[in-house]
Amino acid sequence: MRLVVIGGVAAGMSAAARARRLDKNLEIVVLEKGDTVSYGACGLPYYIEGQVRSLDELMVHSPDYFRRERNIDVRTRAHVIAIRHASREVVLEGGERIHYDHLVISTGARPDTATVAGSDGEHVFTLNGIEDARRLKEFLARRQPRRAAVVGAGYIGLEIAGALRANGLAVSVMDAAAEVLGRQDSELTGLVRGHLERFGVELRLNTPVRSVDGLDADLIVLAAGLKPNVELAAEAGVEVGRTGGIRTTERMETSLNGVYAAGDCAEVMHLLTGRPVYLPLGTTANKTGRVAGANAAGARERFPGVVGTAIVRICGLGFAFTGLAAPQARREGFDPVAARISAHEKPHYFWGTATSVELVADRRTGVLIGGTVIGEEGVAGRINTLAAAVSGRAKVEEFQYLDLAYAPPYAQVWDPLLIAAQQLVKLLH
Ligand code: FAD
Repeated sequence: MRLVVIGGVAAGMSAAARARRLDKNLEIVVLEKGDTVSYGACGLPYYIEGQVRSLDELMVHSPDYFRRERNIDVRTRAHVIAIRHASREVVLEGGERIHYDHLVISTGARPDTATVAGSDGEHVFTLNGIEDARRLKEFLARRQPRRAAVVGAGYIGLEIAGALRANGLAVSVMDAAAEVLGRQDSELTGLVRGHLERFGVELRLNTPVRSVDGLDADLIVLAAGLKPNVELAAEAGVEVGRTGGIRTTERMETSLNGVYAAGDCAEVMHLLTGRPVYLPLGTTANKTGRVAGANAAGARERFPGVVGTAIVRICGLGFAFTGLAAPQARREGFDPVAARISAHEKPHYFWGTATSVELVADRRTGVLIGGTVIGEEGVAGRINTLAAAVSGRAKVEEFQYLDLAYAPPYAQVWDPLLIAAQQLVKLLH
């Protein structure tokens, strides 16, 4: 039996590694069109910033490692140009055909540059892979640009803006939307804007960019959204969902029997709305890849879905959210009530910094449906606590007394999450 995996980064290598763990005898072939596999794309902005010194630090394992240690045949520069499901084979550029019994499609996503004219200019970049980062870093060193324009105020655009500002450039960020981070949250947008301005980064919202020509910049980075790489799958008859990602079951199986999809090319279930969403993130790519690989190796595992948790560091400050923001919740038929507080995350004698927390609950049920955490420290821990509560349908009344850890070097006796919950309880009554 042979498992073929198309794409060798987060989802693809997770699938291959998990399949190998479950079945020692399965033949596993990973086909990657690029030169590298298994690297941390999420670290690329920190390479541009300078915190990560070399791209080598972002490599997790080499193709050789997978061959030697895991008995997985990883082939780079292996571009799959067709899937022929009737004969269960994939076709490589150059004509080679490889038979599969099970197939995992983990072809990822690409920056959506189609709407911006002039995106092929020498001073225009995207940041999606190792080569993009190398090119951008070289340009910074060689040309010493002074003004940068970043198109897109999603998390990648804002991370890049921070990284370029740290390199001493004057930076403007433009987005067609009225809000940042793809979240309909005007308060969050206001806080991000204020923070960017303190760092000298200009944010221009409601500003669609149709061409790079009008931009007053020596360096332009396009980060205006991602397009899932679904064409290969769609041409083979795999169903694509309304979100644009490949439609999958909770076992990550596609509409074709024995063909799985995972990572940035696939949609997943939103646990609060009960509808598929396209939320391409590394954390989901690893999990869906693992589940796809397990099932392709004969197990029965399921990926329940996501609540939309994300965290980003922008110019040194952490911004994180989970679940639904109030306007989105209203559109989904909830009756949202929100409370926002700011509190110190440690006692004054431990120099704790301020943390801002917003919690959103549904008035009808009193159940937590979302929230935001902003701060310098402890942001990941708090948003993850909240993500667990939202996933577990916790009621705010119970959540306000959650047994959270306290000791002065780490936390307050009343954690900011619990203070926000107390405020929310008052608003619910
Ligand atoms: P990809 O990483 O896109 O890999 C897909 C692979 O498939 C590619 O290598 C591609 O060459 C290959 N491929 C495509 N088509 C073919 C074909 N026909 N034949 C052969 N090979 C093919 N996520 C987070 O959760 N947190 C973060 O902080 C974060 N930061 C990020 C920062 C940046 C700058 C970027 C770009 C992404 C970030 N992400 C983050 C997202 C995360 O990196 C992705 O969600 C993750 O890499 C998706 O993994 P994947 O395997 O699905 O796809």
